[in-house]
Amino acid sequence: MGLVVQKYGGSSVADPQKIKGVAQRVIETAKDGHGVVVVVSAMGKTTDGLIRLAHEITATPNERELDMLLATGEQVSIALLAMAIETMGHKARSFTGEQAGIRTDAAHTRARIVGIDGDKVRRALDDGHIAIVAGFQGVTEGDDITTLGRGGSDLTAVALAAALRADVCEIHTDVDGVYTADPNIVPEARKLARISYDEMLEMASLGAKVLQARSVEYAKKYGVPVHVRSTFKTEPGTLVTREEPHMEAVIVTGIAHDRGQAKVSILRVPDRPGIAAQVFGAVADHGIVVDMIVQNISRDGYTDISFTLQRTDRDKSVAVLSEVARRVGAQGVTHDDRIAKVSIVGVGMRSHSGVAARMFKALSSEGINIQMISTSEIAVSCVIEDKYTELAVRALHDTFNLAA
Ligand code: ADP
Ligand code: ASP
Ligand code: MG
Repeated sequence: MGLVVQKYGGSSVADPQKIKGVAQRVIETAKDGHGVVVVVSAMGKTTDGLIRLAHEITATPNERELDMLLATGEQVSIALLAMAIETMGHKARSFTGEQAGIRTDAAHTRARIVGIDGDKVRRALDDGHIAIVAGFQGVTEGDDITTLGRGGSDLTAVALAAALRADVCEIHTDVDGVYTADPNIVPEARKLARISYDEMLEMASLGAKVLQARSVEYAKKYGVPVHVRSTFKTEPGTLVTREEPHMEAVIVTGIAHDRGQAKVSILRVPDRPGIAAQVFGAVADHGIVVDMIVQNISRDGYTDISFTLQRTDRDKSVAVLSEVARRVGAQGVTHDDRIAKVSIVGVGMRSHSGVAARMFKALSSEGINIQMISTSEIAVSCVIEDKYTELAVRALHDTFNLAA
């Protein structure tokens, strides 16, 4: 008998009817003779609602209390799913992150898993139960509840699959698998039968939220086979796996986009050694993660520095930089939310030249101005004006012939 970890996302458990549907699917898997551990997210957009609620109390919620609040969302889903399964005649037991033995560090709202004690879940399985675990949450050594960053139920599922040595980690969601681009934007996008961990990690980091980036990193580290598939259909989806030789034959595997970033600029900074260190040192001291950086050509001994970051960190970053600007004699700080990042991803890029040039040409043919560029071994990203996102993603999908 094998062991399967199945994760169901928020839209898959959005209402009681859907929860009953998931219960049925889980029971079918158990009837096939597998041990089943189910990880569930909060119902629908519950987490967004809880975050809004917190912000109605204060603009800067205490992060320990925010985690306490956010973790309630998943607790609702596990209890309801356990009830649904029991009603259908199968034994089920729900577990919070703490009960499932998911131990994390104390970095509230973005905690890292430091260990998993899977004994309780194993015992439940041995007793013939379906184990249902709350995604997205863990507990610190001091018994404080933590959360694992947005989309963190994917990480719970992968980490449990690794700890319990499951045969596969199935991520059930509202699309049929990983596509060459977000199928909600590009109707002719093609479902990939397989994608390498590295490409998936890059796609996820660059905005393809079908999997949380950290979960892919974890899967790669522990060699967990991840199968992304539909909650509502039974056909196979996409297998995220080790790179296979033929994968390099394809130059571009997919297009990703990210509309959750902002650009922050510090204007007319004195152009002398040590300034960038002061600017980015201050930003890093506040735990803000910077993505792309551009420094303009110096004029009269002054320059502008711009960078992108997650929009949720924008206010904190502007406040920190305004202080730095005063200290170093810069003119001021501005920010722009109307940006998006579009990226092409593919392991084949390692061995082909001219790929970036084709990307820039495709964007320019649509009259889209590129504000920033960054590259890695297997990706090229451009920051553009947000209103062109769909146009850019479709143009790139077309240029690299990704449709079926
Ligand atoms: P869940 O609630 O199940 O975790 P998410 O909303 O986090 O689901 O992720 C699924 C969504 O990811 C899809 O609805 C789709 O819009 C988006 N997505 C973005 N890029 C891709 C891609 N390349 N392939 C499939 N889905 C993608
Ligand atoms: N409910 C959490 C979120 O919305 C975790 C998840 O869905 O994976 O981010
Ligand atoms: Mg998700």
